[in-house]
Amino acid sequence: MRIVLATSNKGKVREIKELFHDREVFPYTELMEAFEIIEDGETFKENALIKARAVYRALGDADAVVIADDSGISVDVLGGAPGIYSARYAGEGCSDRDNLNKIVEGVKNGGFESSPAHYTAAIAIVSKEGESCVHGWMYGDVSIYVRGENGFGYDPIFTPSGFTQTLGELNSEVKVGLSHRSKALNLAKILIDQIRFQRS
Ligand code: IMP
Repeated sequence: MRIVLATSNKGKVREIKELFHDREVFPYTELMEAFEIIEDGETFKENALIKARAVYRALGDADAVVIADDSGISVDVLGGAPGIYSARYAGEGCSDRDNLNKIVEGVKNGGFESSPAHYTAAIAIVSKEGESCVHGWMYGDVSIYVRGENGFGYDPIFTPSGFTQTLGELNSEVKVGLSHRSKALNLAKILIDQIRFQRS
């Protein structure tokens, strides 16, 4: 049973492969040419399903199980922004660092040095058996001080609850133990095992 990831984001692929180390998973871009997927949903769930469906259809392999992640960060003092717009907060084609800087500026402009924030991950699973979607969350704070090089995206400004270091400073095993994506993927694994069981 081929598990295909509907993403080419290197940070996500690395984290998903780490968690699925006991199974074979392929980013779809190893199997076909990357193509643009318009993520015009209004929730993480809708966008994850849009990506998973698009890749499932394009693959033309009815037996594939496609999983897609849609994720982002919500910052309390920014009214929950950027949320589903996390990948393009500073504008289309901007870098992770541009997006991070926009949060830093927003928090500073509000007169704060930090704010409660949380990451959300929705993982959609699409196969011939049907569609499902599970979620995971990680709570903590974002700060205007950028620290560490690990992880990706907003990790150098995000300190998980109960820690003093940012995800940029903590190692990847710590993040795997805590993250929104790990929590959602652990649920997704159960659903994928059910599909495997149904097919055996
Ligand atoms: P997506 O590819 O549309 O789901 O975009 C998610 C965006 O949210 C990424 O580009 C990152 O900026 C941010 N993001 C999601 N998960 C993480 C994480 O674990 N660490 C840091 N940034 C993340």
